[in-house]
Amino acid sequence: MKKKIWLMYLLLVLAALDVIGMDTVRLRADANAFMTEAKEDVEHTQDVKAGGSSADGSAPEAIEAAIRSELKVFPIPLSVTHPDYRAVFENSWMSPRSFGGERGHEGVDIMLYPAQRGLFPVLSMTDGVVEKKGWLPKGGYRLGVRSAGGIYYYYAHLYDYAPDIEEGTVVKAGTFLGFAGDSGYSNIEGTVGNFAVHLHVGMYYDDDEGTETSINPYDFLVSLENNQKEMEY
Ligand SMILES: [Zn+2]
Repeated sequence: MKKKIWLMYLLLVLAALDVIGMDTVRLRADANAFMTEAKEDVEHTQDVKAGGSSADGSAPEAIEAAIRSELKVFPIPLSVTHPDYRAVFENSWMSPRSFGGERGHEGVDIMLYPAQRGLFPVLSMTDGVVEKKGWLPKGGYRLGVRSAGGIYYYYAHLYDYAPDIEEGTVVKAGTFLGFAGDSGYSNIEGTVGNFAVHLHVGMYYDDDEGTETSINPYDFLVSLENNQKEMEY
């Protein structure tokens, strides 16, 4: 008798799943499992810059308006050949991080699935000029792009750089910058594997006193999700 009830329950659940679409459920379950796994595995990073940051990660209205006007492309493109590839993120602004001393997370981590270094292209979110390229203990192989609005867009933990990207290179929104990876968390250049593959995105501006100040990129990234380029990879 007990067995029968259990079986009926199972059938009901299966029917329900079918009604709302098995694919949706499975994708969501995958993403959830992935985020949980990522959170456990990843002692991710951030950057490097020892700037200030407001408690809530907001910036003056004029700065936020500038960012909104210059952000054009989500930094991870959609794979047309592998629609199951996924880029997921949550608001991890100021989450505790410990590499390089206790600190808050100055940015957002876009977790990538499959978490394979060198697989996901990273695109510039804005027009600008490459200001920094190279290794940082926290950020690994990173790129910093300075926009016309004076914002510093920081991409960290790259696997590799696009061949034509150097300091001083002028980029457009959508320009291929390099591949996402898991480099960083070490003073030894080239170290990988200390956390799951992801793209760390940071945004900084200079406040009135000239202090480099970190902004929470989360809301901006959410609004950019509709502007995901399609690429073959
Ligand atoms: Zn990060």
